[in-house]
Amino acid sequence: MIDFQTSQGGKTRIDDDKLEALRGALRGSLLMPADEGYDVSRTLWNAMIDRHPAAIVRAAGAGDVMQAVNFARENALLLAVRGGGHNIAGKAACDGGLMLDLSAMRSVRVDPAAKRARVEPGALLGDFDRETQAFGLSTPTGINSTTGMSGLTLGGGFGWQSRKRGLTIDNLVAADVVLASGEFVQTSATQHADLFWALRGGGGNFGVVTSFEYQLHPLGPQVLAGLVVYPLDQAKQVFEGYRQFTAAAGDDMTAWMVLRKAPPLPFLPAEAHGRPVVIVAFCWIGELSKGEQVTKPLHGFGKPYGVHAGPMPFTGWQTAFDPLLAPGARNYWKSHDFMAMSVDVERILCAAVANLPSDECEAFVGQLGGATNRVGAADTAYPHRDAEFVVNVHTRWRDAADDRKCITWARGLFDALTPHATGGVYVNFMPEDEAQRVAAGAYGPNFARLSALKAKYDPANLFSQNQNIPPKA
Ligand SMILES: Cc1cc2nc3c(=O)[nH]c(=O)nc-3n(C[C@H](O)[C@H](O)[C@H](O)COP(=O)(O)OP(=O)(O)OC[C@H]3O[C@@H](n4cnc5c(N)ncnc54)[C@H](O)[C@@H]3O)c2cc1C
Repeated sequence: MIDFQTSQGGKTRIDDDKLEALRGALRGSLLMPADEGYDVSRTLWNAMIDRHPAAIVRAAGAGDVMQAVNFARENALLLAVRGGGHNIAGKAACDGGLMLDLSAMRSVRVDPAAKRARVEPGALLGDFDRETQAFGLSTPTGINSTTGMSGLTLGGGFGWQSRKRGLTIDNLVAADVVLASGEFVQTSATQHADLFWALRGGGGNFGVVTSFEYQLHPLGPQVLAGLVVYPLDQAKQVFEGYRQFTAAAGDDMTAWMVLRKAPPLPFLPAEAHGRPVVIVAFCWIGELSKGEQVTKPLHGFGKPYGVHAGPMPFTGWQTAFDPLLAPGARNYWKSHDFMAMSVDVERILCAAVANLPSDECEAFVGQLGGATNRVGAADTAYPHRDAEFVVNVHTRWRDAADDRKCITWARGLFDALTPHATGGVYVNFMPEDEAQRVAAGAYGPNFARLSALKAKYDPANLFSQNQNIPPKA
């Protein structure tokens, strides 16, 4: 007999025969706390999250996903779904419930003639990049190779190619889904079109995706990318230069900024290490021969401590931030969308970064615009089609004793930025304590439709461990 947490907050006992029957029906494995692999499965990117499911289904295919979903529904169990395990809110694991771990399902199949890729839900961005770039193809995803394709896509997805090609969801052409009923459906613009609309931004609320199909585009394999690292005391010039540069930038050009203490990067002089800096990170995905001229102004905003830039393989650039974003640290994020990087925003960010609570904390400014805004707000569930920038407060530290100090700093910076922000937030950057922002902040005008679709596809809210959209009463 094993005690499980139910979806309604109570407890239920499942007898061993039932669990053995589930185990026997799986192609993958059923992991109990004493089993090898249990801790690997339940451990997420954010070390703040330390949850212990009563059991884990480590799925090998869509058949296992159906078994797990049916078992959870029939026994009214709390159910959590894991793709890449990267989400800051850590809802991919649950205490006492059933965890459905998709991370063993990692295949990426490219059809170079049709320029399409079929991707399993445990694939990471690095898996996708390596397979697609082998054919000189790609589609917009994020900037860190260990992020999961699954969660990233279901929230929207943006990175270095998005200003040219849109969000990841704007390039999703089909998805296979296991519904709360256990039924397997194929979705696209013409099949279960309402569900396909909801999947494109609605997170894990509507079912378990067992396969994603993306439109691919030619890319690289070389891009012109790099980092220009300025001292924080030159932030005024850097922000002014950044404002002018991004206002004039074409769709092939994307420039982000990171405000933090300088990591000990080999191209920086030793005296810069640990000093507060503004890093301009950029990627030009247009014709290589034109890139040097286009990106030159980024080197001249001030007098940089150092520059590391040039043509490089896109797959390499996609791993550039991995060392700063490795799993295992404690993390707490806050995020806002912006129409402009105003002087007020600059002043607030610089003041906060001059006073970081730990050496690994940072504020980053991501550039959106371009093709991400050439889709209607109601065309997909992701509604923020006017945002030009996103600012993330990335609080990151090692020692639990610093939790309060670091979280307080993040909230203070977030509150100071609030009057200058749009009020919108990208659902994939929300921490676990922001349920009150889901309706107006994450979904705004699309929330009512999403809530009605939730009632159609998941009326009992079996998929509750996410930034939850409650079913319309
Ligand atoms: C270091 C770092 C860098 C990032 N950079 C970017 C970036 O550049 N661009 C960007 O857009 N985002 C970025 N993100 C945010 C990222 O998109 C989200 O964290 C995303 O949710 C990660 O997906 P995952 O599969 O790894 O997460 P998981 O934690 O496994 O999943 C998140 C949630 O999605 C749901 N889910 C996952 N898989 C499925 C599935 N197959 N079917 C149904 N529901 C599912 C579950 O509810 C789960 O709780 C970054 C995050 C981190 C931590």
